[in-house]
Amino acid sequence: LISLAGLRGFAFDLDGCIWAGSTLLPGARELVEALRAAGRGVVFVTNSSRERAGQIAERLSALGIPARAPDVLAALDLLGEAIRRQVGLAAVLPVGTREMREVLEAAGHTVVGFDDWRRATVVAVGNDPSFDFGRLRAASRAVAGGATLFTVNLDPRLPVGPGEFDPGCGALTEAVAVAGGARPLVVGKPHAPIFEMALERLGCRPSEAVMVGDSLATDVAGGRAAGMVTAWVDPAGELPDAGQADVVVRDLAEMLKLWRGTRG
Ligand SMILES: [Mg+2]
Repeated sequence: LISLAGLRGFAFDLDGCIWAGSTLLPGARELVEALRAAGRGVVFVTNSSRERAGQIAERLSALGIPARAPDVLAALDLLGEAIRRQVGLAAVLPVGTREMREVLEAAGHTVVGFDDWRRATVVAVGNDPSFDFGRLRAASRAVAGGATLFTVNLDPRLPVGPGEFDPGCGALTEAVAVAGGARPLVVGKPHAPIFEMALERLGCRPSEAVMVGDSLATDVAGGRAAGMVTAWVDPAGELPDAGQADVVVRDLAEMLKLWRGTRG
């Protein structure tokens, strides 16, 4: 059995773990408070391809979990850094929002327009409400011509309300990948870059940190692959694949009890 008390860093998924929409989930605020009071590192790790870390930190703070931008790892924010680590400074064709262009420019990349796709050495895909045939054509031609394809995440859907979704960043990425004839490098969970950067922020080795989240496919699988301890938040209590995670709880209130228990 894993002892939570022995861990130095705690990485939390946001949607379905810390909050649902604009409501904090049970135990979230109290657990984060208790961990910080005990000197443990806390970061928040999200696949968001629309919001930047600063915006997310403000929302957390307004809900009662004080946070600053460096406490939040948003996949969109890490895109520029991930491209730089992989291929250096690049001419990037961005398929995404204005925020994505800001992120790329802040990391020192040159942003290329859709008419200029021949100049692109990288194509980057995020959630793009203006996605259309022209953008798909430019992006896929650039990839076919040798530009490296990056994406914020491969999530197929973006939940927008009870039972409703928008096509996710992954759906747009797959269209570019199929037409362009290349597989994407993925920044967000369950892929390595976002976990590596979370561990750097926590200042921990993987075995000293736990990834806590409600998705077996992204949080638990990705955390495990990164060598971290994993905790699965399973509100349904169905435990179909409980063996995949080191710790299984219904919510963070239950995790708070475990934390207090293992500290004796
Ligand atoms: Mg989640």
